[in-house]
Amino acid sequence: MDRRSMINTTATMAVGAVAGCALPGTASQAPKTPFSVADTFIPIVGSEMMFPVRRIYCIGRNYAAHAREMGSDPNREPPFFFQKPTDAIQNVPPGTVADHPYPSLTKNYHYEVELVAALHKGGRDIPVERALDCVYAYALGLDMTRRDLQRAMGDEKKPWEIGKSFDRSAPIGPLHVADAIGHFTKGGIWLKVNGQTKQKSNLSNMIWNVAEQISKLSQANELMAGDIIYSGTPENVGPVVRGDVIECHIDGLPNLSVKIV
Ligand code: MN
Repeated sequence: MDRRSMINTTATMAVGAVAGCALPGTASQAPKTPFSVADTFIPIVGSEMMFPVRRIYCIGRNYAAHAREMGSDPNREPPFFFQKPTDAIQNVPPGTVADHPYPSLTKNYHYEVELVAALHKGGRDIPVERALDCVYAYALGLDMTRRDLQRAMGDEKKPWEIGKSFDRSAPIGPLHVADAIGHFTKGGIWLKVNGQTKQKSNLSNMIWNVAEQISKLSQANELMAGDIIYSGTPENVGPVVRGDVIECHIDGLPNLSVKIV
């Protein structure tokens, strides 16, 4: 064995030691690291525990009228998903108006009010009938969007990540446990800017309900505890500017408010 292959073997063994842990790219026991990286958590109403966030999935164009306003034809074609980075979460306590920074690079910053489902278990190829068993809790969330960048990238057939996946693009209220509050299949959902109603619909208008979203998404990725799913926004998305106050609502959840600063 020459020196190079010995080095390679040693390196492979070292990688193998890490790969022996439960999941790709993650360790079952905290390894020693040169610095620490913050984990992301969402408060759980009625509990001292916090919900640890693994991944943020978002479904696109899940209300027919919103699909039309985005220039596509609403139908029952398979839903599509994108992700935001986990640390895009901005926790917003009920009864407060959190400062939400207007992000860089955009001149057309849009709100999208959405129901969020948080999972405490997952799996692959989850049948629709069992999908809601995976849902631990629900929250009210905003899928904030740099619409001009999303559109420009889409026009160029490039990934529109820069329009969706950026710092603090996912304001969210606390989680309400499904065992206590039930599952959300219908109910009013609205958003106001400076007291004026902008978005107003019903959760029953989703093209793919939460159970169907989980089932479809689990065909593409193994879902796991800690995953959360932004379930899409109704029509009449629009822009905000610094100083605007967004208030949003889903029947059965406390309102969520942010001020654009
Ligand atoms: Mn959205």
